[in-house]
Amino acid sequence: MDDNYFMKLALEKAKLAYEAGEVPIGCVIVRKDKVIGSGYNMRMSLNSALAHGEIIAIKQACETIGDWRLEDCTLYVTVEPCPMCAGAALQARIPRVVYGAANKKAGCVGSVYDLLNDTRFNHTAQTVKGVMENECSMLMKDFFKNFRQVEKKGYIFDFDGTIADSNYLWEKVDFIFFEKRGMKISPDYGHKISAMSFYEGAVFTKNTYNIKESVEDIMEEWHKSAVFEYERNVKLKDSVVEYIRFLKRKNYKVGLATASNPEFYLPVLKKYAITECFDAFADGKLGLPNKDNPDIYLKCAEMMGVKPENCTVYEDIIQGIRSAKTAGMTAVGVYDERSGQNTDIIIAESDRYITNFMQELEPMINHSKKNSSDL
Ligand SMILES: [Zn+2]
Repeated sequence: MDDNYFMKLALEKAKLAYEAGEVPIGCVIVRKDKVIGSGYNMRMSLNSALAHGEIIAIKQACETIGDWRLEDCTLYVTVEPCPMCAGAALQARIPRVVYGAANKKAGCVGSVYDLLNDTRFNHTAQTVKGVMENECSMLMKDFFKNFRQVEKKGYIFDFDGTIADSNYLWEKVDFIFFEKRGMKISPDYGHKISAMSFYEGAVFTKNTYNIKESVEDIMEEWHKSAVFEYERNVKLKDSVVEYIRFLKRKNYKVGLATASNPEFYLPVLKKYAITECFDAFADGKLGLPNKDNPDIYLKCAEMMGVKPENCTVYEDIIQGIRSAKTAGMTAVGVYDERSGQNTDIIIAESDRYITNFMQELEPMINHSKKNSSDL
């Protein structure tokens, strides 16, 4: 078995990185013709600047043989190692490093620097360059070509009723408010205050029901009660977490466009560990007009650095669908059992209508599987 044979195995690993939307670099470590460690770049999946393929492979190889020294091993990597990985190869006493494509901007095995052949260190390594160079660099070029294309796309999500099952919440807050005072909530109360601002609703409630607390105290009580509910009980809809993570792995831009404020939506996003997936938050804090107006979507697109025509908006209310269309975006209607919206109108006016985010995720997974098998 020669260097080409093992470089092919490293390339297989690099393709796994490609499929995951990561810069496609793969690595295998070989001892006596046996692979004892392998890895590929997982920087984004693991949110770690240390998660390069070589580091992962070195770690695995050391575990396999139960030794931090890899003295009779060869490291094969599809792209010239960076300073960290060349350094790690030195630290592990790897005597031979073979790579495919050079990295003129960051490579430290001959390009920018030659860490493995600096005799001032007490260890050096034999290096072999350009093994299957063409295949290795084509994979990188292909990735960055696609990356540049997909980078321009953005996905904008409304929060309440679209990604979160939270439309029950204000009803519950109102119910708790009146129950605490031994009062029964009137059936049309929710409908009456739904069109009012927070402040107007509090004034209305104070005057109509002779509440003794001040308007400010009423708003404070509602606010606390709602934050409590968001933190503890609000759930995200089926498959939306998987969908948002997938979009992020594919390097699409992801934005939130909501009239809501961070103290409400952030605890929920944090609970599901997807806060980091969002590139932009166009929320109530920006003081933009409501969703009868396209401004909030346009602002979100601008914050993501994506042209409006390359944005897709997910909304459960018809005003949002219309404004997204006015902004020149693709509008996807999302079913919500409590949004009180006329589903027929949303279906008629949106570009497509979904009842579950799996309907968006599945075609994309199939599409990317098809594309990566062409490599
Ligand atoms: Zn590296």
